[in-house]
Amino acid sequence: NTFEQFQLSGEIREALAGMKYEQATEVQSLVIPRLLEGSDVIVKAKTGSGKTAAFAVPMCEKAVWEENKPQALVLTPTRELAMQVKEDIQNIGRFKRLKAALLVGQQPAAPQRVELNQKVHIVTGTPGRVLDHIEKGTLNLENVKYVVLDEADEMLNMGFIDQVEHILAEVPKERITSLFSATLPQKVIKLSEKYMNEPEIIET
Ligand code: AMP
Repeated sequence: NTFEQFQLSGEIREALAGMKYEQATEVQSLVIPRLLEGSDVIVKAKTGSGKTAAFAVPMCEKAVWEENKPQALVLTPTRELAMQVKEDIQNIGRFKRLKAALLVGQQPAAPQRVELNQKVHIVTGTPGRVLDHIEKGTLNLENVKYVVLDEADEMLNMGFIDQVEHILAEVPKERITSLFSATLPQKVIKLSEKYMNEPEIIET
């Protein structure tokens, strides 16, 4: 189960080797090929399973450095998780020089606006602040084609459902959407039915 089993560019394979990711974890083996081919997936997986790379590897593989507007969006329930995801994305995307912006609450918005004015390939953040930037016109999502809802059950438990739905309505429909969650309660399934395209459920 090495990463050689996937169709990945040299830049991504080299970055994974540098991170000492040699064997793909179970969730990575199941999810990476589905996302590379463009399918939507609902993934039941916990922290520690390697779920971040499961969505970040295909995301970085698909990202195009030359594009000037964000191509991918990752929503997480907490600042800490958004920060971790951003770091993992930048490590995996290092040799493609991919830049991720961090949009989280309880931080001044001005430096985030500055960041968004520069070249950003991927946006990671918490729903409230991401929505703030959309409403103020400082975040343009019209080029987004890859969306990840990370720890979806937690986002809904924390009361982010309205913000998440509002954000998803702002992203072009022609996209790949993945949802990661430790549990799959009815409200998570409902959200997926509304905003995902024939998702396959992968349980690990
Ligand atoms: P996550 O579940 O995404 O939070 O990942 C848990 C931990 O496993 C993180 O510290 C990752 O850096 C690490 N990790 C993820 N995938 C691999 C892999 N294929 N090989 C080695 N370490 C990994």
